[in-house]
Amino acid sequence: MALSAAQVKALKHKGERAFPVYTWWLYLSIIGVLTLNNIAWKLWAWRKRSTHQKQSTAQRGSTSASNLPAAILTASRIAALRWRLPVVPMNVLEILMTIAYILVLFCLEFTSTNGLQIALWADRCGHIVAIQFPLIVALSWKNSLISFMTGISYEKLNLFHRVCARVNLMLVYVHLFGTLYALGGAGGKQWFHDPYTYCGPVAGFSLTLLVMISTAPVRKRFYEFFVKAHMLLVTIIMISVTFHVTLAPPGFGFYVWPAFVFWAFDRLVRFGRWIVLNNLFQPRKSSGQIDLISDDTLLFTVNRHIPFGWYAGQHVFLSLPTLGRLQSHPFTIATIPSSDAKKDELVFIVRVREGLTKKIKQHIMEFGSCETPMFLDGPYGAPPDITPFSTCVFIAGGSGISYTLPRLEELLTQVIAKNACASRVVFVWVIRSRAHLKWVASRFSKIAASAPSDVTLVLNVHITGGSPQVEDLRDSPEADVEKDASVDDEDTKSKAELDALAEGLVITNGRPDVFKILEAEVNAAVGPVSVDVAGPASLLSDTRKALTGKFAGPGGVMKGTPTVQLNIEEFSM
Ligand SMILES: Cc1cc2nc3c(=O)[nH]c(=O)nc-3n(C[C@H](O)[C@H](O)[C@H](O)COP(=O)(O)OP(=O)(O)OC[C@H]3O[C@@H](n4cnc5c(N)ncnc54)[C@H](O)[C@@H]3O)c2cc1C
Repeated sequence: MALSAAQVKALKHKGERAFPVYTWWLYLSIIGVLTLNNIAWKLWAWRKRSTHQKQSTAQRGSTSASNLPAAILTASRIAALRWRLPVVPMNVLEILMTIAYILVLFCLEFTSTNGLQIALWADRCGHIVAIQFPLIVALSWKNSLISFMTGISYEKLNLFHRVCARVNLMLVYVHLFGTLYALGGAGGKQWFHDPYTYCGPVAGFSLTLLVMISTAPVRKRFYEFFVKAHMLLVTIIMISVTFHVTLAPPGFGFYVWPAFVFWAFDRLVRFGRWIVLNNLFQPRKSSGQIDLISDDTLLFTVNRHIPFGWYAGQHVFLSLPTLGRLQSHPFTIATIPSSDAKKDELVFIVRVREGLTKKIKQHIMEFGSCETPMFLDGPYGAPPDITPFSTCVFIAGGSGISYTLPRLEELLTQVIAKNACASRVVFVWVIRSRAHLKWVASRFSKIAASAPSDVTLVLNVHITGGSPQVEDLRDSPEADVEKDASVDDEDTKSKAELDALAEGLVITNGRPDVFKILEAEVNAAVGPVSVDVAGPASLLSDTRKALTGKFAGPGGVMKGTPTVQLNIEEFSM
């Protein structure tokens, strides 16, 4: 049935005002559900900690209906978080959310358009795109309110920041071509006469460029170029979009201005924290030490007071203005806060790559270890809470230890303080050379010596190249400190350290069989299991794949096998 002119006008009005706002109700509902989920998880963790008692053996073997909720949770974790498609760097949940986002926007775009009347949907499309900008900005926050409420780390939200920008680019072209088609010959004339009209295509083409340079191959290969081009293009986009929507009669600037408020809030918080962290008025206190500790690894050490401390597994953005101007790189803090906050030492274990890290390595090779100004921004990240788990497994490859080792130390501290339930802790570190052991030699021996007696602690090191001979540890950083002492003293100390180290560690040649390790741990576990993994992509993928195995599947959980939570740190955005 054909609509009257008044009805079409009302539909146009609804498409410009109500439909775009529906998207935000949907986002707020999703954030609300995720927040409730986060609260429920925290309550479960709190209950688990407060009612924690040592369990003797798990009741296994026969299927029990009471295990159904845990089995459903396990099945959904495997299907949504661990399965991956070969080409898309996303898990199934992320893919489904992307599809849902596309469907929602396109349904809102084309429903109630008087039989797909172009003028109606083309006009509505621009409004739907405009109101997405605050969301796109909110998902890029480092000091993310969404992250705080939902417990989802800002790096994961950043993925949706890119997804939203890409889906909106599709809509930008729907809007552009739809509008041109609807205007017919008048479209071209209007294009050149109305300043607000050509602001639209300027924003659209800039967004196209931005989406192109943010594709993974370009972003990963030319990160610094990406960062700078992103800043420039976002500025052009936001200014053009603001003009476009504000000057479009009767003016729709209110769709876009929240994006500026969100952006300013994030920058203000970052700036304030940066000032507090970096002793700007005492330059000598702003420096840190850099050492080359193996052929491809740097050690950064900074003494800095972080007002509210940090959680193990969090990272900061480091700027080293004398070595790399206008750059800041994320590195995980490989230490935990000390009991005396004034003595906090932040250590970063940094793998040498092709950009700034390579430049720093070359500098050290030429001039030796150095002290240089180091500015910190952070801490950031939301490492999952593992205190409610009975068995905690940590798997690290190379510099991935900067994530897992402090997590292990923090967990043991919490167990001692009776704030964590772990009764079995397994730590697996895979390194290419035995020389890498020296990065954290003294910390391993401290961990082994101070572990609570009611925790079974297993520390495994797998060396994938050469044989593990303890003599190689003699030139460890701790031994270097002693260089001025007599040779006898040095030998005695190194030997004592090595003995302590060898006592705590099981050193094996060759790669670990991640599947077997996890299968054995899950089968023997008496309560929920957490697995933390950080390191090269192949190790992450092996771990993910292992935990889709039958031993960790819903069938086993129905029979009493514990559920497993997998926490992955990818060291990439
Ligand atoms: C949350 C997080 C924590 C990390 N923690 C550690 C750690 O503890 N130890 C460690 O060795 N590495 C860590 N990384 C990786 C580290 O940030 C990069 O290896 C480093 O920035 C590379 O610098 P480059 O100039 O030598 O890199 P390039 O050789 O130019 O690039 C190597 C890779 O690093 C990425 N990269 C480069 N610069 C940045 C940047 N400013 N921000 C994000 N990614 C970048 C590139 O996209 C590329 O994939 C972490 C990364 C993230 C996202």
